[in-house]
Amino acid sequence: MSSNEMSFAATILTLYPEMFPGPLGVSLAGRALEEGKWSLDCVQLRDFAADKHRTVDDTPAGGGAGMVLKVDVLAGAIDHARSLSPKAPVLAMTPRGTPISQARIRELAAGPGVSILCGRFEGFDERIFEAREVEEVSVGDIVLSGGEPAALMILDACIRLLPGVMGAASSGTEESFEEGLLEYPHYTRPQEWDGRTIPEVLRSGDHAKIAAWRKAMSEDHTRLRRPDLWERYSGVRDQSASGARRMDKDQGQ
Ligand code: SAH
Repeated sequence: MSSNEMSFAATILTLYPEMFPGPLGVSLAGRALEEGKWSLDCVQLRDFAADKHRTVDDTPAGGGAGMVLKVDVLAGAIDHARSLSPKAPVLAMTPRGTPISQARIRELAAGPGVSILCGRFEGFDERIFEAREVEEVSVGDIVLSGGEPAALMILDACIRLLPGVMGAASSGTEESFEEGLLEYPHYTRPQEWDGRTIPEVLRSGDHAKIAAWRKAMSEDHTRLRRPDLWERYSGVRDQSASGARRMDKDQGQ
């Protein structure tokens, strides 16, 4: 397999290409970039401005504070990204978007790549969402000054899942969110620190018991810290349990 064909193609549409790869140029992601496991293209939005001043923004129609990214500039940049990476979905970073999830990250990481449009100022002229197929994505209920840190976050989450980027541990389905639960707590040596010891069960060598303890801790943490995740998880769990009961009954008849 040629690394070119297989590599995950990231295209970032931004006014600040110098922010990339930034933190993704070091450690795991940096090494993977050097090894060609993913590639990075930055598209300068300003290159798609029509006037000699290379204007990318203008004042909001109807008045109010801030500036709005111009629709013609956005369309030009998106069309260019599509020509670079025709099969990659285009994500626009916006607080009103669908909250990003580990499930969506997995889908993206399994695909050909991703193009990410980073907003600035007040955001985008609304007509871009009517005229182009763009997935609006949020990285949480916070407001950033620009989409770049959001893009870095999404890329980081995708890259660590690419084949060969992390060791065996990475593909683990035991990580937070992978099964709809938060992860169980970890410990490492020393066995005793500042009067605190590692839970005895983890030293028992009994793998079934350890797995059961970890599952119980995951469930506790999720229930207490993330009632939203817990509700979904326990709903699905109860549903499949009653499905199983129904099957038993059917078979009994
Ligand atoms: N006026 C907008 C905020 C603009 S913040 C509003 O009230 O919703 C400037 C840019 O930062 C946005 O265009 C977007 O690209 C990015 N951004 C800010 N918060 C974000 C978030 N939670 N998720 C993704 N992108 C975000």
